[in-house]
Amino acid sequence: MQKALELDDLRVHYPTGGGLLKAVDGVSLSVGTGETVGLVGESGCGKSTLARCVVGLNAPTGGAVRLAGWETSGGRGDRLTRARVVQMIFQDPMGSLNPRLTTRQTIELPLKVHGIGNRAERLEKVLELMKQVGLGPHLLDRYPHELSGGQRQRVSIARALALEPALLICDEIVSALDVSVQAQVLNLLTDLQTRLGIAFLFITHDLAVVRYLSDRIVVMYLGRIVEEGPAESVWNHARHPYTQALVSSIPDRMAGTRLRLSGDLPSPIDPPSGCGFRTRCPHARPICAEQRPELRGAGLPHLVACHFAAEIPELAAPAPAATAP
Ligand code: ADP
Ligand code: MG
Repeated sequence: MQKALELDDLRVHYPTGGGLLKAVDGVSLSVGTGETVGLVGESGCGKSTLARCVVGLNAPTGGAVRLAGWETSGGRGDRLTRARVVQMIFQDPMGSLNPRLTTRQTIELPLKVHGIGNRAERLEKVLELMKQVGLGPHLLDRYPHELSGGQRQRVSIARALALEPALLICDEIVSALDVSVQAQVLNLLTDLQTRLGIAFLFITHDLAVVRYLSDRIVVMYLGRIVEEGPAESVWNHARHPYTQALVSSIPDRMAGTRLRLSGDLPSPIDPPSGCGFRTRCPHARPICAEQRPELRGAGLPHLVACHFAAEIPELAAPAPAATAP
């Protein structure tokens, strides 16, 4: 079946005063039609840079981006085509919504730009989209500052859905919201997944958030993928020491062993030789400084980029939940 997104050896190297910063350094991944892929990794590992390449806000330094089989050129000409295939929602809805546009104008704009419908048809479509994201018609003429954070995020979701894209990229979209509102927005997304059959690339630093939402989980570290595969397999049988640290930091997965990450993410301008994670890895041995581990199977339904994937013990299973007497 055709993929909604295929990244082939994607690279984004930013020239900086201190040297070349390899924000994304050879990432290949795909998102199937209607599939949800969770992209996880700590701040600075290159998630947003990757996302920006997919929507055309950043030009890749190397590699290919294919959207629904269509190979993007990165030229200006493909902007309109791309907007109909992929849309992105950002962390801060206040910053991504135009403060001078009402809810109606915001959601209607992509329809206008793409010459879809007449005025009456567009209003009907705007109301339908608002209903889909749980916004009542009384919010039609409100400006962003007259809405709550959760409502603003719903407006940006409605705007992103207006052109009926095949793929929706959500970049840390609940990080700035209160916990109770987070749950509501995540529920809305789950609902849209089942109703619309859109593919999602769901980006977050918080593994707990993507666990339930994702069909597959991709874990990034320092511009590269370190572990990826079916969500349940990655969650229950994490083998990469970095993924294990992420999993074991989540309260309901803590089971005696808590692996803490020591130190900070190394600079992507001067990354460690060999395995990028070795400077923080409790299992590192000399070969890790000499040879970069490739993503490969380790007797699991998913892939791991670690020389010792087959030897590293899995995390202990979480203690069974106490049963009511
Ligand atoms: P994430 O979204 O995972 O936090 P980013 O993609 O935002 O990561 O950033 C990855 C790395 O690229 C970081 O080291 C960041 O400082 C750097 N970076 C991001 N954008 C630029 C840019 N325009 N110029 C130079 N460096 C950048
Ligand atoms: Mg980011």
